[in-house]
Amino acid sequence: MKIYIITSVLSKYLSIALLLFTFTLGAQEKFIVVLDAGHGGKDHGAARTYPEIGYVAEKDVTLNVALAVGRMLEKHKDFKVIYTRKTDVYPTLTERTNLANRSKADLFLSIHVNANQKTSPYGTETYVQGPDQNRTNLEVAKAENDVIFLDAQDRQTFGSYDPSSPESLIALKIQQSRYLEGSLILGGFIEGNFANKDKRLSRGVKQMNLHVLRMNAMPSVLIEVGFVSNYDEAHYLASSKGQAEISESIYEAVISYKKAYDRKSGGGRIVESKPAVVEEQPLKNDFRILLMSSPSKYVPGDPALKGLNYILTIKEGNLYKYYYANTNMASVRDRNIKTARDAGFKNATSIGFTPDQKLASGYYTIEIYAGKDRLASSSPILKAVSDKAVRTKVGGVFYYTYGTAKTLEEAIAIMKDLEKKGLKNLVIQKVVK
Ligand SMILES: [Zn+2]
Repeated sequence: MKIYIITSVLSKYLSIALLLFTFTLGAQEKFIVVLDAGHGGKDHGAARTYPEIGYVAEKDVTLNVALAVGRMLEKHKDFKVIYTRKTDVYPTLTERTNLANRSKADLFLSIHVNANQKTSPYGTETYVQGPDQNRTNLEVAKAENDVIFLDAQDRQTFGSYDPSSPESLIALKIQQSRYLEGSLILGGFIEGNFANKDKRLSRGVKQMNLHVLRMNAMPSVLIEVGFVSNYDEAHYLASSKGQAEISESIYEAVISYKKAYDRKSGGGRIVESKPAVVEEQPLKNDFRILLMSSPSKYVPGDPALKGLNYILTIKEGNLYKYYYANTNMASVRDRNIKTARDAGFKNATSIGFTPDQKLASGYYTIEIYAGKDRLASSSPILKAVSDKAVRTKVGGVFYYTYGTAKTLEEAIAIMKDLEKKGLKNLVIQKVVK
């Protein structure tokens, strides 16, 4: 009754009020789609050259398709589109997945182009995150993950992953099952459209462990829109007709997906079914996993490191501290601890590092050599640092260090430069005064 009175009094404004209300709701309830055009910049992805059409690069096809899908989705008021890139640049995997997670997206679509040594394979396939690792899938995983590994930051963040090692598969028992259903539904729509609308060969929806999928807290697919290594398909991929068809099929699959979920959730968004992890925000600190402290210096591949890769060694006093992986996401940190413990470091623990924190006193330097023999001045190690190393001798062991840095990040940068010059087994040394 009250409401009736108010509305009758304000009947004139009711429609405006309702409109505003709807508008506000609508703004909150946008269905957020992240479009990730694979590769970019110096990373061309798969590419081939053909006499008639010249150079066809994956990065160009994926960008055109992502932009076209986005343009169509943006025409709907209830969609919000986020692009991991809109130009010919290369966002790191960390940047791509962080963007998706921070934006609390509803869907993540990564667009790629396939290639094979042989020219015969053709067709489309859509990958969802999953434990299934057959040989063929592993080849794709390696191809797509290798390029991702170009970036040093990713290497630290995703320290656990070496797709060619069976041990890593243990670490990779990552459960994306909570998003698997949605991913499979979307994948089914996409492949269905390719097959039925575009009359293309669909190689199906497959499960695979891919970084770009496994780090996402939302239904995610990686679409291989065709083989650039196949003559006919390369021409199709490079053509505006081909790109338009591919884009429309992906676009319509997203629309079908949203409709399916709107029905399922009674017209609302699927917020209830999304677990709290979607809300995960990056932490203030970086977290590395301390595996052990030891007076012994172990080099990569040493059995003492139990097969873990991407270890940062920081020497403090006489002790070498071995740190594994680096992340500012709590869920990744916890997973990294588990990986380290599973590998046999029972006491592995995470240590927080404040990014770019300057040492209050002292400095970092790089230990470039430790050994019983004094280095000759002609040594490649000394040459690499233009004879600017500092030599000390402790307990019959010669130590050579190079450079000074106030922050760990600067020290890592110096170390990376030295690695580029061919130096190996480098250790960051924290010198406290
Ligand atoms: Zn790719």
